[in-house]
Amino acid sequence: MAIILIQFRTSAVCGQMMLVGLGHSVKRRWGMIKKIIKSIFCRHDYKLIRTIHGDQINHMNARSEWQCEKCKWVTYSHYLDRIK
Ligand SMILES: [Zn+2]
Repeated sequence: MAIILIQFRTSAVCGQMMLVGLGHSVKRRWGMIKKIIKSIFCRHDYKLIRTIHGDQINHMNARSEWQCEKCKWVTYSHYLDRIK
């Protein structure tokens, strides 16, 4: 029951993360939940990972990929040089 609740909560935050989590152990899943909680309370310090080119711009609806140095959260931006 607890695991079902955790899965539900995880899917509420990010359905994609839940799909990844289903293939791993409970311990691994708990690590992911901690990461999500950490990312919620983190004052993100994003660094540019890569810029997105060509067809990927339409597929991902973004121009650049950014990752927080503190919690490793990844986000996408419509701009090349800034997040918003
Ligand atoms: Zn962060």
